[in-house]
Amino acid sequence: MDFGNKNSIKKVYRKDGTKVITQETGEDKKFAFQLYKDAPTGDCDLSNLERVSYSRLKMLKKVGELGNHYANKGPDYNSKMFVLYEEFKKLMVMGSSSSNEKVTIEYNNDWISHFFLCFAFCRNEEDREWFIKQELDLFRYRFTHILAGDRQSILAGSGLEFEKMEDREKNELVDVLMDAGGLHKFDVQKNEYYKMDFLHALSLVRRRKIYLCNGIAYVNSNDIAVVLSDILRSTMDERMKKLQKKIPTLGEEERLVNIGKKIANIRVSGKAFEPSNTDDSIVPQRINEISKASFPPCMRRIQRKLVVEGHLKYGARIQYTPFLQALGMTLDNALIYFRGSFAKTTSFKDFEKKYEYSIKHVYGKEGHGRVMNPFSCSKIITSASGAGDCNGCPFQNTDKKDMDDLLDSWGLTREQSFKVKAQVTSRQYQIACTKAFEFVHGMDEQALGQTIQHPNEYFKFSQEVLTGKRSKTYYQGESMEFNVAAPATAPLLKENVEPMEVDKQ
Ligand code: SF4
Repeated sequence: MDFGNKNSIKKVYRKDGTKVITQETGEDKKFAFQLYKDAPTGDCDLSNLERVSYSRLKMLKKVGELGNHYANKGPDYNSKMFVLYEEFKKLMVMGSSSSNEKVTIEYNNDWISHFFLCFAFCRNEEDREWFIKQELDLFRYRFTHILAGDRQSILAGSGLEFEKMEDREKNELVDVLMDAGGLHKFDVQKNEYYKMDFLHALSLVRRRKIYLCNGIAYVNSNDIAVVLSDILRSTMDERMKKLQKKIPTLGEEERLVNIGKKIANIRVSGKAFEPSNTDDSIVPQRINEISKASFPPCMRRIQRKLVVEGHLKYGARIQYTPFLQALGMTLDNALIYFRGSFAKTTSFKDFEKKYEYSIKHVYGKEGHGRVMNPFSCSKIITSASGAGDCNGCPFQNTDKKDMDDLLDSWGLTREQSFKVKAQVTSRQYQIACTKAFEFVHGMDEQALGQTIQHPNEYFKFSQEVLTGKRSKTYYQGESMEFNVAAPATAPLLKENVEPMEVDKQ
């Protein structure tokens, strides 16, 4: 497999009946990670490649959850990341070896798992963006929590052209450096400063965080992580776009391609909601009741609009139909449901002509022949919404007055509404949704223990709470689990459940 440069993994061949790829194990490394400029070369057992790639994915999923939960990345975030990262390091090594060997193994496994996940997540923009975001968060955490000497080694190997600022010059510029960074004199004096072309520090320039003079940016050692993560972002973006173009030519490396697909498919937990069996409780006549109890706000809004207007525009249909399919509604029931709901505005014949094809397409019975994955929150939040359409995330695209009415209709107290709206204001829509979920289900704050990532996940959690399988209480002493939920179908809504307040949408 070619990872995009001349040092890449190139060969897949059999050796003693075992399929291996080339990956250079390299000399002993003195620090545990890098900027991933060069692809690994040398021998690597495929089972190890798969193991370390899964371990990294588990880590990145947790990084994503923590990033969503602790948006300001304060001390709580750092302490959770510390626990998580220590677990991750153990999974990267396994087995007993000397501490020097461990560092080398950890380094190499970190290297190959990063590159293999680049390959696994290169196929579409949503996967690419998710992966790059989590890798950058991980990189920034690691970079700011390693020894100063290791930071210097990574910086030196980054290819970045910079000059370390002399103490004499720093003392002369101490006032402007304090002003620019909003720092105390003590902070300026204890920090190292680096001079570089301002084009390398555009993120910091945009935030007006650094001193600029004659095209030279003066970046302190804390902000270097931002500069390096920008380099990592553009390297990864370029590499993954190249890889995406090469996928069609990788026919003979079928096993690698399959491992990559498998890994990419468990990234968004929602993809695990594709039911292997249909659910005979998800029937048209129960949708009203089920939606009041457990549909997330984005789907409830669509369902209400369908009831009231007897019609849905394209954006809403394409968001809602895969959601129902993943809950377990059969194709026959979906056709009955939409045909019946559209009856107010559309004749049987017109429905057949205009809408049946797209419903069958979602179920893989027309067109490409594959069942369509239900949309994740990030996809819904970033989707455009046309005039008169009701797709998208209500936390993102509802105006202030309607948001007040909406939260009222869910029975939230003033204080609860205030907390949800604070998250909306800071554009943390999934956290707003998670808080609303906890309030609506009468749970302690943070009792859910994670941020909602997918509408089908919302439904699943709601079912678990309503049927007593999930606790409503926040348990402070709970340790962080280092697990990715195994793909599972959503629990079935068999019992009658207490419906939530009917919303006024
Ligand atoms: S955060 Fe996700 S589940 Fe919640 S309303 Fe928005 S899109 Fe739906």
